Amino acid sequence: MTADKTTILIVEDEPAIVELVSFTLKEAGWHAIAVNSATDAWDMLQRRVPQLILLDWMLPDQTGLRLLARIRADRQLQAMPVIMLTAKSMEEDKIAGLEHGADDYITKPFSPRELTARIKAVLRRKSPEHAQKTMSAGPVNLDPVSCSVMLDGQKIEIGHAEYKLLKFLMAHPERVFSRGQLLDKVWGDHVVIEERTVDVHVLRLRKALKDAGDLIKTVRSVGYMLSEK
Ligand code: CA
Repeated sequence: MTADKTTILIVEDEPAIVELVSFTLKEAGWHAIAVNSATDAWDMLQRRVPQLILLDWMLPDQTGLRLLARIRADRQLQAMPVIMLTAKSMEEDKIAGLEHGADDYITKPFSPRELTARIKAVLRRKSPEHAQKTMSAGPVNLDPVSCSVMLDGQKIEIGHAEYKLLKFLMAHPERVFSRGQLLDKVWGDHVVIEERTVDVHVLRLRKALKDAGDLIKTVRSVGYMLSEK
């Protein structure tokens, strides 16, 4: 299982670039999945939601731009971080990409170091739960580097799933998430687990947090949120 690692989907039809990019991502500690057409990418996204997509501009079946538009129009995927890979260095193409909702673009050829830096910047901006800084809410502190949770300065025992759930909610405070969204965002693979499982983990999380358990609010008929109010 690679559920803990940040998964990056590469949509690219040039094998040499796929190889270079996959290698670079692996070296940076990420998990890479590669597909070589927009159709395969869309199929993949129905089964598994990555944390970021590297999207080639020119694909054999349709343009990367069209796939990007489809992602941005999809309720589940619309917030997905997307970096366009483009051989085009024309200014108007870059502008078109950004207007279609790309978070960034990289012009080929690019160095592994540039790629890694751009991905980190986009993840920091769009997915704070993948940033490696300590987060706090009330008496709860979560340290993503040591994967530990402190309650009033004391380390507490917490299950792996509860840890991931807490980390996600702490990264997005005061926002309500449906069970389905939590499955996608926290477990990343929305076919394996039933939505009811989320309730079980929320119960366990509240128990682990003791008095601070009421930070995790149930929003009736919608889902859950972390709130200090
Ligand atoms: Ca291409």
